[in-house]
Amino acid sequence: MPELPEVETMCRGIAKVVGCRIQAVRFPKSRLRPISVRPSAGQVARQLCGQTIAAVGRLGKRVVLELASTHRLVIEPRMTGRVLVVGPPDLAHLRLILELAGGRHPRLYFWDWRGLGTVQWFSADEFARQFGPHRLGPDALEISPTELRNRLASSRRPIKVALMDQRAVAGIGNLYASEILHRAGIHPATRCNCLPDRLWRRLHAAMRHVLQAALRDQGSTLADRMYATAANQPGRYQEHHAVYRRAGERCLRCRKAVIVRIVQAQRSTFFCPRCQPPSRVEASFPAPFGQAEPTSAAAAKASEARRSNRRLEGVLNPARRPAASP
Ligand SMILES: [Zn+2]
Repeated sequence: MPELPEVETMCRGIAKVVGCRIQAVRFPKSRLRPISVRPSAGQVARQLCGQTIAAVGRLGKRVVLELASTHRLVIEPRMTGRVLVVGPPDLAHLRLILELAGGRHPRLYFWDWRGLGTVQWFSADEFARQFGPHRLGPDALEISPTELRNRLASSRRPIKVALMDQRAVAGIGNLYASEILHRAGIHPATRCNCLPDRLWRRLHAAMRHVLQAALRDQGSTLADRMYATAANQPGRYQEHHAVYRRAGERCLRCRKAVIVRIVQAQRSTFFCPRCQPPSRVEASFPAPFGQAEPTSAAAAKASEARRSNRRLEGVLNPARRPAASP
């Protein structure tokens, strides 16, 4: 947190700073853990002063201010950062203030409770090198179904872990990875190279649906209340979470099974064992909300899917593995 929907909401919330001139830059003194500033607070302040903001954009989970000089200021909120155009929740955790002229907002703030966020200054060339295709995959709202499959399908990693790899696809983190896989009806431990074609298409559709719905609701503000919009308001998508942090509660889709929490790559994953079964027999697999099951082409892939299922079942249910020979 924040992930694509939250950072995109921040970017839209500060869009009106475009055209403003930066009159002063302040990194308030604090005894708290300092945020990381590259190359240094003094250099960033000197470079930014007098510049005009030409554009605001999002790069994965980062806010990017493009200056008229073509330099970029990249703000990464990480866990608890907020980019604000209204006064911050407190002054103790205020990390950066840009004094602006010529627009509706007199200031732009970066506030960060835990101080894990970063502020970085790049020339256009440095920016292109730092965030080139080798470092950052296509955006999750722009990638095509074919490209998503091409980038991940040869991996042996569990699909939940792969979806969070920013080099493969940018913008998805722990929260939305669980929500997307629940909507797609895919078990989070399924290895990418075991996922049949039609499930890649279903995964892509679920990814777009979940991210766009979360964006309409201005992101998710969890119980820690750490995320807020640029106007310091909570998001609303937490009211629609199907699985995230709902372990032990009944699944809202099937209304039968109970949501389970597992740990993958040191992160919590939430899923419904009934809607997202490890065994995947085409005929009995439930369609996700509002989507019809494909009626043709499925049979041709069913035998490969069944082979994958048997492999996967061995991984997920060790008790059902055939006994090892002595
Ligand atoms: Zn369910």
